[in-house]
Amino acid sequence: MANAAPSAGKTFVVEHLDPELEAWSSLEYANIAKECHSSGARFLLSSVPQSLKLPQNLQGAEGLTVENRGIEEIYAAQKDKVCLLDPAASKDLSPEDGDDFDIFLFGGILGDDPPRDRTSELRKKGYQGRRLGPIQMTTDTAVRVTRMIVQERVPVDKIVYLDHPEIKVSKNETTEMPFRYVKGADGGPIMPEGMMDLIKKDSEKGLGDLL
Ligand code: SAH
Repeated sequence: MANAAPSAGKTFVVEHLDPELEAWSSLEYANIAKECHSSGARFLLSSVPQSLKLPQNLQGAEGLTVENRGIEEIYAAQKDKVCLLDPAASKDLSPEDGDDFDIFLFGGILGDDPPRDRTSELRKKGYQGRRLGPIQMTTDTAVRVTRMIVQERVPVDKIVYLDHPEIKVSKNETTEMPFRYVKGADGGPIMPEGMMDLIKKDSEKGLGDLL
């Protein structure tokens, strides 16, 4: 039987794959750092170009380790302990995977709709892959769900999700987020602090572009 005790001490690695580090990603990364820190896990943001200036909210963030090196170099000797969270994998992540893997790897990519399968950049490095169900999640949601499965041992289909939620961006307008989120205690999607404001700001900009 699977051990029901929470297994801390896991490492969550987001390999940053975009040339820039946009506001959206910085909010996601800050949120991942905070949640990993308070659950006893490590968070590594890898492959960050030396030339990239970290946004203010990530400078000195508790729980965040920034690495210029990439995943292959950092974990060259532990390749079989690395699990890539991959929307195209044939098998879903299970609580038992927490016994076999110590390192969980995610693509640090802005979500796109339709998905362009940029996770393939990590897949071709040959890591074992697991899926988190059929719907695209934001990176912080994917890390949150993985932590729930391997640390808290909740099966992937027992987590309560919100798919493609509508966000109210102004008095009369909503915008649909093309992702899956975990449902929070308030009934809304769990999102990083500041994300709602950023979505509102971006939607004003989007409208501005059209005018
Ligand atoms: N649009 C991107 C995916 C961005 S989501 C693409 O084309 O690949 C960012 C990361 O979250 C992915 O690289 C993956 O590691 C993880 N992720 C998101 N949804 C997932 C799912 N349903 N199953 C497994 N991993 C997922």
